[in-house]
Amino acid sequence: MKLRRYRGILLGLAALVCSCVGPATDRQPQSALVIGVIDGDTVELEDGRVVRYMCVDTPEHDQPFYEEATQLNIDLVYGKTVTLFPGRRALDRYGRTLARVVVDEIFVAESLVTAGLAVVYGFEDNEEYLGPLIARQKEAIDAGRGVWTLLLAGDDDEEFYVGSTIGFRFHRPGCSAAAGIRADHMKQYSSRREAYYLGMSPCRNCRP
Ligand SMILES: [Zn+2]
Repeated sequence: MKLRRYRGILLGLAALVCSCVGPATDRQPQSALVIGVIDGDTVELEDGRVVRYMCVDTPEHDQPFYEEATQLNIDLVYGKTVTLFPGRRALDRYGRTLARVVVDEIFVAESLVTAGLAVVYGFEDNEEYLGPLIARQKEAIDAGRGVWTLLLAGDDDEEFYVGSTIGFRFHRPGCSAAAGIRADHMKQYSSRREAYYLGMSPCRNCRP
């Protein structure tokens, strides 16, 4: 409800204050006004586009730290003119614009990861941007911030985990998705912590 109220106020203001550009047609940086914050990694722009931050994943509405991640996103971008750096892939499967978002020279995804409120989520098309985010993720893990108090709380229940040297997910050794990894691409992680440390994110099938 709180977010809806924020949106309502800004929708009114947006009619008066418009400094944004039209829909993305290329990968040039674009300025846009954020009029809604949907959750930790998704915002709505004055021009109607919904932007999903590239490279990270934040807690869903039924998960711990959802409120904290959403609030930090509000604090960072709500009502502000941000700069979008569109990804190589323009849209995700839900039709949301994929972009890196920068506000006041702050890379928003990096702030979320630093606070332990976002997890690095790599894809082939965003690999070039992952380095600084993985570094921040290591710091957040070591400091035990946010989601890391839960994600790494219990003991590992596998002796090791696996992934691909050209992929971005890690799996339980018995996962059907892991069976398709070529032998010369197969990589092992001694713990979930090691996999997260390297910027891998958990497979949504085997949920390691
Ligand atoms: Zn898996």
